[in-house]
Amino acid sequence: MTARYDYDLIVIGAGSGGVRAGRIAAGYGARVAVIEEDRPGGTCVIRGCVPKKLFVYGASVGADLEDAAGFGWSIEKATHDWPALVSAKNKELDRLEGIYRKLLASAGAELIAGRGKITGPHQVSVNGREISGETVLVATGGWPHIPDIPGLRKYAITSTQALDLNSMPDNIIVYGSGYIAVEFSSIFSGFGSKVHLVYRGDLPLRGFDDDVRQHLAEALASRGIHIHHSTTVTAVRPDEKQLAVELSDGQIILTDQILAATGRVPNTQGLGLEKAGVEMTDRGAISVDENSQTNIASIFAIGDVTDRINLTPVAIAEGHAFADTLFGQKQRRANHKNVASAVFSQPPVASVGLTEEEARREYGVLDVYESRFKPMKNTLSGRDERTYMKLIIASSSQKITGIHMVGPDSAEIMQGLAIAVNMGAKKEDFDAVIGIHPTAAEEFVTMRAKRQD
Ligand code: FAD
Repeated sequence: MTARYDYDLIVIGAGSGGVRAGRIAAGYGARVAVIEEDRPGGTCVIRGCVPKKLFVYGASVGADLEDAAGFGWSIEKATHDWPALVSAKNKELDRLEGIYRKLLASAGAELIAGRGKITGPHQVSVNGREISGETVLVATGGWPHIPDIPGLRKYAITSTQALDLNSMPDNIIVYGSGYIAVEFSSIFSGFGSKVHLVYRGDLPLRGFDDDVRQHLAEALASRGIHIHHSTTVTAVRPDEKQLAVELSDGQIILTDQILAATGRVPNTQGLGLEKAGVEMTDRGAISVDENSQTNIASIFAIGDVTDRINLTPVAIAEGHAFADTLFGQKQRRANHKNVASAVFSQPPVASVGLTEEEARREYGVLDVYESRFKPMKNTLSGRDERTYMKLIIASSSQKITGIHMVGPDSAEIMQGLAIAVNMGAKKEDFDAVIGIHPTAAEEFVTMRAKRQD
């Protein structure tokens, strides 16, 4: 390593990807600075995956309480203390932030509090001083995007504020149809808010398998969420202590809160990228090759700011591969194929591989196996909700190209199935496995009849 620069590596952003890259590089002996303008841990730990999942756990107790009577429980009117939840969540986030700080410190990486800005191929300014690095890694993540609709930017909250409200709203409009929209709809509904979910398309979760989308839309409605599909918000204005939200179908809904879950954009503003000559994509993300390298040889980028697959484990994998390759003499690339993902709605959704539409485009003839069944728990709970499972197989090779599920534990089940798909499993491999009984998961190894199209 050369001492021509202050550091071997400067990382901008101490989120999922930046922390992993910084600490692995430092572990290889590199002189690393990680710049963070907010709290180490980034979106996932501070305002994303972690607090959201804690809220999902809390909200799911609501459904458990409803289900309990079928098993003989009699629970007097249960009450919920929202501020207690928020403060418990905040305590846990403080703990996790501390862990992230320790991870960097014990690897020998220097954490610099401040906003980083690229001022040259090897230069970054922070807190009014300029530092230099042989390599600069941009890991600044993404940011909520709110469309320019009268009143929406002024009055809507985003997922970030939704995790820190002083009180639970009695009613809330969630605008959007992506995973964050359906997750927060389920969270507020689970805690007892009246939820209106408004989205432009005919189904939520664009990009997911159409049968999954249909099944989830029905399940959300049957859990009491008011779905307004093919509808947009046209204006938001204050109305006494509430907000009046106008919809494109002419309805005006009075609500305590409106949550804009209308997409996220790469966090590239004011970073000095244009001046440094870094190429961007049409969507404003940093354009990188498979090694996460930009067109400027010394500048790399990972995670949501590159808008590849915007998930924490992907940002981590990209950061780790980057550090191994540049500082560990291990040439590696992050694997972006068959990345499993989940939506922690109630019921949750999980998928790995291709949707049916994608698989048909890629493989032509498919064998599709489906199952819709009442989970055993619902026989006594009385909940009228079915689980949906789908296996998509390329007819010619019999390779499993997509697996989808809507139902309890789907995320936990899908992680194991993702290993099989990544290994190139065929239908006969699934058929050869003996199930665990009684589980929902066993259905995946006992599907025998192809769907007749
Ligand atoms: P981030 O984690 O966003 O980190 C970027 C960091 O850079 C931030 O700390 C930011 O403060 C800092 N920064 C930005 N600009 C500068 C600057 N100029 N100078 C200094 N610091 C800067 N993913 C999942 O896999 N599972 C989930 O369940 C999940 N749930 C989510 C729920 C919500 C509500 C949201 C919003 C996201 C969720 N995600 C989930 C996505 C996940 O959080 C991101 O994919 C992940 O955090 C991306 O990591 P990153 O390293 O690219 O960026």
